[in-house]
Amino acid sequence: MLGTPPPERWREPMNAAASYLKGLDYSVVQQCMHCGLCLPTCPTYDATKLERHSPRGRIALMRAIADDRLDVSSIFGDEMYFCLGCLACMTACPAGVNYAELFEHARAEVERSRVLAAPKRSLIRHFTVSWLFMEHRRLQVLGRAIRLYQRLGLQTLVRRSGILKLLPRYLRYLEAMTPDIQDNFSSDLIAPVTPAIGARRYRVAVLTGCAQDLIFSDVNRDTVEVLARNGCDVVCPPEQQCCGSLHAHNGELGLASRLARQNIDQFPPEQFDAIISNAGGCGSHLKHYSQILADEPRYRDRAALWDRKLKDIHEWLVQIGITPPPTNGAAPVTVTYHESCHLAHGQKITAQPRQVLRAIPGLNLVELPESNWCCGSAGIYNITQPEMATALLDRKIRHIQNTGATVVATANSGCLLQLINGLRQRRLPIRVAHPITLLAEAYRHAVQSSQER
Ligand code: SF4
Ligand code: SF4
Repeated sequence: MLGTPPPERWREPMNAAASYLKGLDYSVVQQCMHCGLCLPTCPTYDATKLERHSPRGRIALMRAIADDRLDVSSIFGDEMYFCLGCLACMTACPAGVNYAELFEHARAEVERSRVLAAPKRSLIRHFTVSWLFMEHRRLQVLGRAIRLYQRLGLQTLVRRSGILKLLPRYLRYLEAMTPDIQDNFSSDLIAPVTPAIGARRYRVAVLTGCAQDLIFSDVNRDTVEVLARNGCDVVCPPEQQCCGSLHAHNGELGLASRLARQNIDQFPPEQFDAIISNAGGCGSHLKHYSQILADEPRYRDRAALWDRKLKDIHEWLVQIGITPPPTNGAAPVTVTYHESCHLAHGQKITAQPRQVLRAIPGLNLVELPESNWCCGSAGIYNITQPEMATALLDRKIRHIQNTGATVVATANSGCLLQLINGLRQRRLPIRVAHPITLLAEAYRHAVQSSQER
């Protein structure tokens, strides 16, 4: 609960010795055998060819700190924030190094030691990570304000006026990334309980996310509709909180554990056959609540059950046997699929989204070269590291263009937004859609066609 202090493991250490990296299980710290097989899969190493920008180099730095051979410095801090956290190195690693855990502890170490502390950075972090994303209503208030700015035409006016040219380059870059806020948030589109269409087979809960609720509430609606069409009663409470991945990935492990406790209390895992996430980044974090709450006796067992019940939407549909939409006479469409890093590398879910796409009548799926190479979104990486993020986006868009597809499907809100912005800025007429949206549209089209007959 909110009033419960975080456990020792996640609490801000009180002295220099009680660091996050030194407190981490040493079997995790010393797992790397320096083989280098992960290097070609690492986007930052690929871009610079510098060892310190590789997974092996970063792990060596983390271990040196854990072993007391190196002090935490601003150079170490910059290195940990230059890492995308894409986890491609985990997929490549034959030794099973848990880079995700190392990475989160290393960033927490950077924040604990305050080596990157600066007034502007602290203010932004406090406003976003510690305040805005800790209470979803605050985010919705901000979303409504941006929506008003957009609907009144002020955004268009400001963009056309040329006034933005007066801004520094970085602020112009940020302004261009402002997402379109949806007319309706998830609670306006989704009933608290949606009954299964046809025979009821399961009872599931759907997580609507934080930014996703403001920017892609339609994907949440489509998720609920698809689940109902696949025999699920769907519970979707109107007021939900962030999953905590933003906090964990930015070194705020205490706040992440607080949000984990809130979510387990709101979605008691014993009451559902599955708890569904439709965002690769969120799902990857949500599946590890037992790790976050390992030192909390009140939550440990429920968190383990939560982890087992937490399912990515594609994983769940394939597990229960997807009901394919009837052939509906829709025009054939060529689609390619970009893999969210945390869906592919974090959750190892690669075949299921493709199976969902192939179930759609008339959809021709063409493989995207380097489909599991990061698009540069990586949480807030495209805000903090614009140059690297833009280089990755350019590379991704070149590959998408080369497929000849008119639609690119991807299953994470960060990737959706990154690709929408990238394609719009380059004036490329390629649609970006979540695979579940394409599936929901196919169901709707089939219903419509049968009514017209
Ligand atoms: S998480 Fe991604 S960017 Fe970071 S070391 Fe691993 S492969 Fe490289
Ligand atoms: S992280 Fe894994 S793949 Fe990379 S050097 Fe270490 S053991 Fe080898």
